[in-house]
Amino acid sequence: MSSIDSNNSSVAIATSDLPQFPLPEQDQEELLKVMMEESDYVDPPMTRSEYIASLGGLPDLVTTVPYNRLEYFAKASIPSDITPEEYARKGIAAAIASRLPPFALHPLEYSLLKSGINHLHVSTYLNIRNGILFLWCMNHHVTVTRTEAAGCARDPRFFGLAEAAFEFLVRHGYINFGVIDVPRCRNNFPYQLPIPPDRRPRLRIVVIGAGMSGLGCARQLDGLCKQYDDFLTGYEDSPEIVILEARSRIGGRVYSAMLKKDPTDTKIFKVDLGAQIITGFSHGNPMSVLIRKQLGLPCYQLKDAGELYDEVTGGSISRSLDKRAEELFNDMLDRVSTYRAPPILQHTVEGDASFVLAGKDPSGEGGRTIGRMEANSADVPPLEPSSLGSKAALKSLDLLRESTPSAPKMTFGRPYGSKAPQTALDVKLEQLGFSVSKSACSQLANTTTDPLPKGNAPTLGATLDGQLEIVRKVCELTDQDLRLLNWHYANLEYANASAVHNLSLGSWDQDDGNEFAGKHCMVQDGGYMQVPRALYLFPSKLDVRLKSIVKEIKYDSTKDNSRKKYNVVLESGENLSADRVICTLPLGVLKANSVKFTPELPEIKRNSIQNLGFGVLNKVVLVYDHCFWDADSDLIGVARDRNSGDYMAQDSYVQSRGRFYMFWNCTNVVGKYCLVALMAGAAAFETSIQPDNVLIRDATHVLSRMYPHVSVPHPTETIITKWHMDPFAHGAYSYVGPNATGQDYDNLASSSNDDTLFFAGEATSRTHPATVHGAYLSGLRVAEEVFRSIVGDVTLSSPLVKPKPKPNMPLQTETVTFPPPPKSAYVGDVPPPPPKPVVLPQISLEELLLRERMEADGESSNSGAVITKRRKPGPRPRTKTSESSTTSVSGLPRTIQSNGMLLTAPTGKSATSSRSQQGGPSNISRHEGLTHLARYRQLKNNRMSAHQSACDTAVTVMLRHEQPMKPEKAQLNPYIIYQKRNWESCRAQADSQRQQVLRDPTSRAPMADIRALLGQQWRSLTDTQKQEYIDETNRNRIENERRMEEYNKRVAEYEAKVQKFRDDWLQQNPSFESEEEQKELALAKLGGVA
Ligand SMILES: Cc1cc2nc3c(=O)[nH]c(=O)nc-3n(C[C@H](O)[C@H](O)[C@H](O)COP(=O)(O)OP(=O)(O)OC[C@H]3O[C@@H](n4cnc5c(N)ncnc54)[C@H](O)[C@@H]3O)c2cc1C
Repeated sequence: MSSIDSNNSSVAIATSDLPQFPLPEQDQEELLKVMMEESDYVDPPMTRSEYIASLGGLPDLVTTVPYNRLEYFAKASIPSDITPEEYARKGIAAAIASRLPPFALHPLEYSLLKSGINHLHVSTYLNIRNGILFLWCMNHHVTVTRTEAAGCARDPRFFGLAEAAFEFLVRHGYINFGVIDVPRCRNNFPYQLPIPPDRRPRLRIVVIGAGMSGLGCARQLDGLCKQYDDFLTGYEDSPEIVILEARSRIGGRVYSAMLKKDPTDTKIFKVDLGAQIITGFSHGNPMSVLIRKQLGLPCYQLKDAGELYDEVTGGSISRSLDKRAEELFNDMLDRVSTYRAPPILQHTVEGDASFVLAGKDPSGEGGRTIGRMEANSADVPPLEPSSLGSKAALKSLDLLRESTPSAPKMTFGRPYGSKAPQTALDVKLEQLGFSVSKSACSQLANTTTDPLPKGNAPTLGATLDGQLEIVRKVCELTDQDLRLLNWHYANLEYANASAVHNLSLGSWDQDDGNEFAGKHCMVQDGGYMQVPRALYLFPSKLDVRLKSIVKEIKYDSTKDNSRKKYNVVLESGENLSADRVICTLPLGVLKANSVKFTPELPEIKRNSIQNLGFGVLNKVVLVYDHCFWDADSDLIGVARDRNSGDYMAQDSYVQSRGRFYMFWNCTNVVGKYCLVALMAGAAAFETSIQPDNVLIRDATHVLSRMYPHVSVPHPTETIITKWHMDPFAHGAYSYVGPNATGQDYDNLASSSNDDTLFFAGEATSRTHPATVHGAYLSGLRVAEEVFRSIVGDVTLSSPLVKPKPKPNMPLQTETVTFPPPPKSAYVGDVPPPPPKPVVLPQISLEELLLRERMEADGESSNSGAVITKRRKPGPRPRTKTSESSTTSVSGLPRTIQSNGMLLTAPTGKSATSSRSQQGGPSNISRHEGLTHLARYRQLKNNRMSAHQSACDTAVTVMLRHEQPMKPEKAQLNPYIIYQKRNWESCRAQADSQRQQVLRDPTSRAPMADIRALLGQQWRSLTDTQKQEYIDETNRNRIENERRMEEYNKRVAEYEAKVQKFRDDWLQQNPSFESEEEQKELALAKLGGVA
């Protein structure tokens, strides 16, 4: 026995810990020596990930222990009581509920997996990944374990894919996140990791800000550290996470203030002064998991329809006028969307929807990895960033019912998904009921119909005003039309927390398409702040240090890695050292430069801080002792009059349109008669300019105009927010300024100082800015980044998918018998005991060479233990991404690898052509040992069989239910009919005879006795007695013939239908020769190799 001695963290590596398969004697010794040398060689102290990296990547030493995987059970987590299609449907729904495209890889999954999987594996991976998400969605209170995740694989060959999916989902916060108790997972990693000899001091991670992003990030990091405890054994302890918060409360811009208590009641009433609306719970809003699934907080669902009033005319506006103005405004927005910046397409690949829908994994091996295909410039078209994959397929499953967010008239967030309209302006205006001047129209047509944006950084406001000018030239708008249009301007200014004249024309709605579907809600009885409070408290309190105003973040890059490089300086004069800093300061605070960064932030980040806007929205809370408004409306809008000047000039409305333009009826949420009036756009700043009593008086005046027949009382209690004056916010939320684009959000999100300073917060969320869920998601993102900076990238097993067993090549996993899955293998079931280790056959040199050839062919191979055992120590690129390392992991000494002549070399002719094609130094074909023609045939066969099985699956999915059932045949033997009828009476007779003989009343006659008696009785029957059974046989024969005739007819019809379906399918889904096939064929022709 030998050991790596490392003080108290020593780990003994006994020979019994070495791979259990037979190895030649000297190999075991060599492996031990390597392990010893590595341990002596490392320069302590070093992290686990550094240690693993110094070994040249995780899988080398680690996958040499393949039997750890025996604790995985294929199919164990797949419910056996539902059909594969139903299971697939649930997985697809779970993916949608998790913001992941069910039929395609997320771009991050794509970059993680592309060097390990081929196109055929994508569907298998998606099936597994969707299955894991389904497990999580079934119960958001319990974490999904690695073993459960592996149970979503249908075949042990795919455990590598299951591990990859699990790693991706856990690390990126798609599963196992939120307010749950995460069990500490020690010794839970399938690989046995060596513990480095010296441990590093405990890391300290400082999070600045206890808003949704800061708390969400800290909670997630805490969970990740527990789930990956095995990875952190290189440190003296799990990282210490400290949150520094300037205020004397948590929550940041989520703040539920307490209203005055009722003297007669002990109940507490809270009103939200910051975030209040949860915009849609469907399609992956993480708030849905936190609020509904984990905390079970009561939510109030907002009604779609709101009432709209006119300040000037008094009373409400007719629905038709209201609708017309809304449609006109949306049309104007659509027209200016011509100038919209094109969406950025992200690279990813789709799986085969027919397999994913059918819940089946494609058979066959597939060809080369996606990475290799792309290296050969195979064109993989990028998908739209928010693509949910095949929308048609989803529609067919009825899963996209809520895909278009229900945008209530008084909507929230970014309501206007705009597309340039097809209808001419005059036609549209006529459709809306405006009378259009034809002469003005033709005059306009001769000039331009587009309000061309002016200047280098055109704004949405100026361009919209230009569009409105054109509308007014073509038709006459009334002063009420203009008030109504300006109400919509105000609503847009509310959504962006800024006047439209500050918004970028091309990118103001760059996040469009990411909004969540479903009804908008408010958290009842205690307000939204219950969510950050829960993140802070559950399952155990986070270390939040209130009243800790950060003044400076100092980074000393000259310190060595073992020492804390950060010094976070507080206003109080205190200092806190740290290894990692997560800054969740609001954009307003960053803009105000109230926190100093030493060294200065990179220029690109500083520019983005400048480009993005940080807007203002304020609220005026009005509490009454009775309700005088329409109690049934949740949203009550009012079209405000112009501020001053000409009613036709747009400028006259800019200041007034957002002032008390909307009242939210919060009575049902707060528990008191309560209206929350909004101050948006230019008017938002007035809450600090005007005295409170002026504001309350004006609000009361507006309400009197809306309800002319009511005596509007003075509120009993009021709260007026001044978010722009708040030194720890400097405003409400971010918007896309004239010079900004979506890229600025990404720039703000990027880490600095060699991946040690990280940024989260709503203004770092390109897809969900200005929202609570965006802030929370940014916290999850950063938790992954920080965690990765500590433990390293996800390390994939190699090969990711093991090849199918081949008759002449017994592979290790083929011989391993996995027990059948437990009957109900849902979450929480205790896994069955691992099966006994199986002694595996030794793999011969010929087989190794064959595998080497397969690898060179781009097919994944089971590198397994034998293949990795000879790997030499020393730093190398990780196996995950490196093609070259895949070759080196192949287990053949380098001399053999480079000596292609050991393999069947192609003829000189083809070798020359292959070299000239590839420009490489080798004198053999890229697919060593296979002629180009053989390779071509192999590729073609693979493709054709994949195509055929896709067609088969489509047939199964679409026509399975129509397949006729073969009729059961009625009995055609008179004796059997007799036997059936008389069996029981004969058995009783035989029993009684036996009991008499044996004098045992409990004895029973054996079957043979009963049969003998029956035969005897049959023979003793007369012909007339037998005729009854013969007649029945004849009737049965006729019936059978009739049934078979009918069945054959139905089969013929079904087969014709299948054939037609196949023909149509194959026509609609033709299979084309790949570039590689064409290339191989061309080479084969050139080389003349037969
Ligand atoms: C009036 C208003 C209405 C809104 N309505 C909605 C809505 O209906 N729906 C919705 O989804 N979103 C809404 N939002 C936006 C939402 O509140 C924010 O997007 C989200 O809360 C931001 O979270 P965060 O963690 O990024 O920032 P914050 O919540 O601002 O957290 C940052 C933290 O940093 C702290 N901090 C600041 N400076 C320092 C310092 N020097 N030292 C230490 N700590 C510091 C702050 O005190 C704060 O706690 C609204 C916001 C406002 C203001």
